[in-house]
Amino acid sequence: MVKIKRYWFQITSLLLGNSYLKGFLEGTIYTGNLKKICFPGLNCYSCPGAVGSCPIGSMQAIALDIRFKFSLYIAGILIFIGTLIGRAVCGWICPFGFFQDILYKTPFKKIKIHKLFEKLKYVILLVTVILLPALYISFDIGSGSPYFCKFICPAGTLEAGIPLAIANERIRSTLGLLFTWKMALLIGVIILSMASKRPFCRVVCPLGAIYSVFNKISFYRMEVSKSKCTRCGSCKSKCPVDHTIYENPNGLECIRCGNCKKNCPAGAIKSYFGNHELNSNSKCDKLHDVNI
Ligand code: SF4
Ligand code: SF4
Ligand code: SF4
Repeated sequence: MVKIKRYWFQITSLLLGNSYLKGFLEGTIYTGNLKKICFPGLNCYSCPGAVGSCPIGSMQAIALDIRFKFSLYIAGILIFIGTLIGRAVCGWICPFGFFQDILYKTPFKKIKIHKLFEKLKYVILLVTVILLPALYISFDIGSGSPYFCKFICPAGTLEAGIPLAIANERIRSTLGLLFTWKMALLIGVIILSMASKRPFCRVVCPLGAIYSVFNKISFYRMEVSKSKCTRCGSCKSKCPVDHTIYENPNGLECIRCGNCKKNCPAGAIKSYFGNHELNSNSKCDKLHDVNI
């Protein structure tokens, strides 16, 4: 019963972010004023239902070109959200994170991801979202080439490529080798997500990489009492990203889902927003009544 709460939050975000239903029927993309607003999670700009834009797609399109106010706006939005809640966007809002949570529920041989792979997302962020689009930017139109979207992003294939191809015959007829490559990547991510906890978020996602660096300084933070914690590992076993919170309460990978806190038999884990402790009677903490 209670365990559904985070899912409801994720489902609501998914529906709100993709409420342009006409787009799904006609195989078109919404281009109205709301598209100027950035959705905080990885929700593809080209999804037929998307009413907002994707921060990673926008970053590539105008990488490092400060003449364009929109690039400063994107940076401002990400810094603002990161400073407030760190990676809670990943745990509560992002549709592609939710997709992986669901896939991990399927009965499949489970494997662990080695911590070393988690560094790869920072390289992907630097190379495909910042450097390549910035190096090959067209200053006439102020647009960089979206390398991450074009060659890697499986969220784009799932949320935009597939529905557009289904609903729009003209788009379907232009699909080629690149789409085949992107489909292969998506299938790979789906299989890996059935086998391991959030592989895309932990290893690949540049947006998760950006939010992760705010975990240490965000208003929303976790604390573990050293005197109470018995290192039983109950918290880690319930963690959707295999994070060892008692070693690093505000580590880069924590997506602030709250599962560890709910499942700690010693009551050693607490969460705060600023100086305000989020206790089990507060509204905020009731959102933590989850158990993936
Ligand atoms: S890491 Fe990326 S895909 Fe995963 S939940 Fe966060 S923003 Fe979404
Ligand atoms: S569940 Fe609680 S007591 Fe057990 S290791 Fe985690 S924080 Fe420590
Ligand atoms: S279970 Fe705890 S450590 Fe793991 S992501 Fe959720 S809040 Fe972070």
